[in-house]
Amino acid sequence: MKTAVYPGTFDPVTNGHIDIIERALKLFDKLYILVGENPQKAATFSSEERVYMLKEALKKHNNRVEVEHFGELLLNYVKKKKSNVIIRGLRAISDFEFEFQRAQFNREFAKDIETIFIMTKDDYAFLSSSIIKEIAMFGGSVKGFVPQIVEKKLRDKFRR
Ligand code: ADP
Repeated sequence: MKTAVYPGTFDPVTNGHIDIIERALKLFDKLYILVGENPQKAATFSSEERVYMLKEALKKHNNRVEVEHFGELLLNYVKKKKSNVIIRGLRAISDFEFEFQRAQFNREFAKDIETIFIMTKDDYAFLSSSIIKEIAMFGGSVKGFVPQIVEKKLRDKFRR
């Protein structure tokens, strides 16, 4: 069985993430989605909320995806799941530098683990969790850019 790990902060999950997941499911039998922490920024949603939104949004794939929070090093999680592939999405050249460093770092410490990049779908090239939060915070509509459960959670969180 071919498996891969897709790590991210998913604060919250957007349709850009879902698109990467669905395309990765064409290449792999099973995806482990790791909800992690980004030390650079405090999360808006708790890890439980982030896991819940992903699980709800991915219900139709529930036999092929596993979503969980993991607070340790990504490489430890990949080994724990006995996988050897990390999936990342690329939106723009600005993502490249960061992702390149990460992939190099991971290869240095685990030579048998490969990082595979999936290029964003054009429609989602500008889409990020931060932009979604900004729109929602100021009362704008995020319809079509996030799963329905996320729309609802954003309304609850930023209700004014
Ligand atoms: P991180 O904080 O680890 O970058 P994110 O949750 O922001 O976590 O993103 C997880 C992964 O999904 C990253 O590889 C990111 O580049 C990718 N990604 C995020 N948004 C999009 C999008 N709109 N299209 C394609 N890939 C995306």
